Amino acid sequence: YFRSLEQKNIKLNKNQIAAVRLTEGPLLIVAGAGTGKTTVLVSRIGYMLTVKQIPAANILLVTYTKKAATEMKERISTIPGITPNMNRQLYTGTFHSVFLRILREQGDQRKVLSNEKFKLVIIKKILQDMNLKDDYQPETILSMISNWKNQILRPSDIKAKTPIDEELKEIYKRYEAWKENNQYIDFDDFMLETYFLLKYEPEILKYYQNKFQYILVDEFQDTSYIQYELMKLLAAPQNNLCVVGDDAQTIYGFRGAESDFILNFHKEFANTNQVILDINYRSTSKIVGLGNEIFRKSKKKIEKHLKSMKEGMNFPKFIRPKNIGEEAEIIADKIESLVNSGEKSYKDFAILYRTNATSRAIYDEFVLRKIPFVTYGNDSLFYNNSFVKPIVDILRLSQNPNVDEAILSVASVFYLKKDEVERSLKHIETMEYIDGKQSTNKLKDVVKMMEKRLRSFQVTALQEKLLELKSLKKMTPEKAIRQIRKGNVFAYEKYLEMNKRKSLTFHKEMVMELLNELENSAKKHKTINEYLQFINQINLTHQKMGEMRTAEDANVVKLMTIHQSKGLEFDTVFLISFVENVLPHKAALFADTQEDRITRRKKEGNLSKTDEAIEEERRLAYVAITRAKNQLYMSAPLNYHAEKAKISRFLLEAIER
Ligand code: ATP
Ligand code: MG
Repeated sequence: YFRSLEQKNIKLNKNQIAAVRLTEGPLLIVAGAGTGKTTVLVSRIGYMLTVKQIPAANILLVTYTKKAATEMKERISTIPGITPNMNRQLYTGTFHSVFLRILREQGDQRKVLSNEKFKLVIIKKILQDMNLKDDYQPETILSMISNWKNQILRPSDIKAKTPIDEELKEIYKRYEAWKENNQYIDFDDFMLETYFLLKYEPEILKYYQNKFQYILVDEFQDTSYIQYELMKLLAAPQNNLCVVGDDAQTIYGFRGAESDFILNFHKEFANTNQVILDINYRSTSKIVGLGNEIFRKSKKKIEKHLKSMKEGMNFPKFIRPKNIGEEAEIIADKIESLVNSGEKSYKDFAILYRTNATSRAIYDEFVLRKIPFVTYGNDSLFYNNSFVKPIVDILRLSQNPNVDEAILSVASVFYLKKDEVERSLKHIETMEYIDGKQSTNKLKDVVKMMEKRLRSFQVTALQEKLLELKSLKKMTPEKAIRQIRKGNVFAYEKYLEMNKRKSLTFHKEMVMELLNELENSAKKHKTINEYLQFINQINLTHQKMGEMRTAEDANVVKLMTIHQSKGLEFDTVFLISFVENVLPHKAALFADTQEDRITRRKKEGNLSKTDEAIEEERRLAYVAITRAKNQLYMSAPLNYHAEKAKISRFLLEAIER
């Protein structure tokens, strides 16, 4: 078998072969980036199917992303002796898809509630019904509910100690009730429902335990509590459970993943075999060296030092542009020149960043220069972000007061009841209600009409806001955005602040970063109209990209957050805005002052929340750097959002000695 792999250019090393052979019993492979963990999983499945003749239907393979699952299946299909039928019978997918499949097999026919916006609407409605609409940010509520579910806590399992706890529990209860009444399940339910199904139906549990004789999990370091519990349930009693991961790459702590699971695996399963892989096959020695240095400083870790196989004299390169605009230009220049000289093609490049806001400048630059690229993730279009869009809508409205959609959006941001505004709007459809006497009269009509339906303060608020639009009309976009954020009428920031009255905040720093970035992007444009046209152009390109995304191997630059890059590798990586307050992110640096009592599980040990959060940021830096095969560029603009930016501590510490 191993010789036949070699003919396919996969020459496994001694430890990798040992890991492939250890098919029985629990097996833990904790190893650094690029050491062939995923490769071992693939080869292991080939070995089980062809050498051990294990039926494919008895193997469960769980990966972190759908993309990874497809890729693995593809790689398995190239192994000599694997038939298409075997590949089809493998039970493969992400945790979510696997458990949804189980629910479906068991006759669950509920619809999947996957649209984030829809979920927000439900939560907003619940908050409104409970008279709490100004008290909580719906996004925060959703992430809290998700966290509860990941800890296997149903509403009835939550012990409320304070009136606030009581309120939150009630919101959760109503959300669940709404889903139940409307026959929906959300993503976290896939796991929660399966968990209780297996727990309370011994026959069903037995069936799946029997079916999944062998279980393999990639990226185990990011497994959540409920996912781990499910794996333990399914793997019993034979416990042929093989998990591979890298504690240095735990980057979903905020979602309830715990590197402790990997650190304590051998305690959970007494007869665990462990295999160490310490040769990095992915990156050149200089990149591996930098990765090692970044990891060396981390506070909680399994000691490991990676050796590299790949020689190459390319040192990681460091860029210090004036600002993120220049950063985008330098990177675009670099890519264009390498592509034009024939040295590289677009698909060799990936641009990695900490948050989507950071990619805005690159995105805009690439669109203008027509550099082909794709982005990943749902909310990836900056100007459509739910915190950014209301401001863009207000700008749009200031130029063209007849855009119903924009009015609706402004109104709904400020929690006016949507259907009521909609009805009122019918009456102002074509009128110019901002300029001229006539329109003022009509506005009064509208207001009168709305008064009947809306509480009076809301009407005044809307009226004031509509009049304010007039004063925005001739401003530069940058100034107008400032006015919307800080001025008295829209007071957008104050409004966002208000929603954390009970100190539940939706990562305030993240939101401020988005707003700063918006202001930043407006600087280049003299008039609001010009700016809006630019945004339209970006929107159009974004739509086109959606179609491109389906073509897997398209020759395009890949833009993604570091989170989305895990497990992947690219010839050349640009890690952008590698500065303090971005990576590590400001939200992490001030984690202690934030209310994450509920959203983050209380950790044991002596690390403070901030320390924990910074550690996670360090692991993010490690993940980013270790994606590069041949060349790594790190850039740190001198100015970030009009403030002086320091080079990231992670980089400085790494090059210290
Ligand atoms: P990550 O931690 O980023 O998920 P990983 O440990 O899963 O990394 P792989 O993606 O399996 O690592 O492997 C990294 C690269 O090294 C791949 O391009 C793979 O083909 C290559 N590789 C793995 N093992 C070997 C080997 N024995 N010989 C040559 N190349 C190898
Ligand atoms: Mg991997």
